[in-house]
Amino acid sequence: MSLSHQQLNTLATEFGTPLYVYDAAHITAQYQKLTNAFAKTDTKFFYACKALTNINILKHINSIGCNVDCSSINEVKLAFFAGFEAKNILYTSNGIHFSEIEEAQSLGVHINIDSLSNLEKFGQKFGHSYPVGIRLRPNIMGGGNLKVSTGHDKSKFGIPVDQLDKILALVSQYNLHIQNLHIHTGSDIKDVDIFVKGIEVLFDIIPFFKELESIDLGGGFKVPYKDGDTETDMPLLAQKVNEAFSNHPNPNGKHLQVWFEPGKFLVSGAGYLITEVNVIKENATTTFVGINSGLNHLIRPMFYDAYHKIENISNPAGSAKKYAVTGYICETDTFAWDRKLHEVREGDLLVFYNAGAYGFEMSSNFNSRLKPAEVLVKDGKAQLIRRRDEFEDLLKNQVL
Ligand SMILES: *Cc1c(COP(=O)(O)O)cnc(C)c1O
Repeated sequence: MSLSHQQLNTLATEFGTPLYVYDAAHITAQYQKLTNAFAKTDTKFFYACKALTNINILKHINSIGCNVDCSSINEVKLAFFAGFEAKNILYTSNGIHFSEIEEAQSLGVHINIDSLSNLEKFGQKFGHSYPVGIRLRPNIMGGGNLKVSTGHDKSKFGIPVDQLDKILALVSQYNLHIQNLHIHTGSDIKDVDIFVKGIEVLFDIIPFFKELESIDLGGGFKVPYKDGDTETDMPLLAQKVNEAFSNHPNPNGKHLQVWFEPGKFLVSGAGYLITEVNVIKENATTTFVGINSGLNHLIRPMFYDAYHKIENISNPAGSAKKYAVTGYICETDTFAWDRKLHEVREGDLLVFYNAGAYGFEMSSNFNSRLKPAEVLVKDGKAQLIRRRDEFEDLLKNQVL
């Protein structure tokens, strides 16, 4: 279930390159995988929108009944702009100034607080009046690599679970109304037992929070990047979550809803970055393919050593050769080494798969390059959802 070479070729002709393309049907299908797997569990899914915040994507997410998780107050505002209701917006904060939490409170959204300091300020200002969640650090190692692991014992994220006594002291001093306990162990987690470990940590803590209504297991589900890769097994995860809950009924007698915050699971595979080959450089050991893009458009390979599948959609029958695919930025920006591609010629179109999550969203104007356009394919129609940058955009905020 992906867009065909022919569709991608047509879009490149119509909209030019480099171009981000998203397939709405893929997002819907991924969301249905989650809701089907957890059909028997009282769950709520919040799309971690930092993966991709284009308003049209947010509107699509809202239209399929999914909620939204935000990492900044501006994402909260974008979510409102896209039509989400306050009760379907969650703000999971980290390292922010208390004024942002006050603003989120005034907008009526769910909030997860991630420091003792902000928890205390929240207590001083709002006492029991506004139900709130706590972001805990479970001291668990999980995730594809250290840069995307957030739950371990040296991570900045959340309040360490070993500081429970301090949390409880604040809860009691200010009569805080704790509605939700949150953990997020990292990204690219294939092993469902990491989530189960997270729940086990929470079970020790749940009894201390009498007004709890939900536990929030964060995001980080794995998606396939390479041929043969698998994604997090959702039916298995659902089964294990249900088992864990039936083994640990809430001692306070209250039913607890389970929340998840999937980001890349919903949008990674929905996205494509179409690029064009500028130059081919033959060297003694390597053939470099230089494309009209770089780490300014897709930073994941250089930032996380991420693997993105690449295909030459202009010469699918060409004989396979090995290439180094590189960008046009004055900085080493290698997308792939020793990568087998159908013979590449100047002018060919190379497509990067899994470009939906943390692709455009992490793009920049480094080297004074322009950001690509974005297109959404929905109900068989391709719609421009962001214009390509123009030269004037580089000057927009400069004082001349
Ligand atoms: C980034 C993030 C997520 C989503 O992570 P994915 O790997 O994209 O699923 C979920 N929750 C929080 C708090 C996050 O910061």
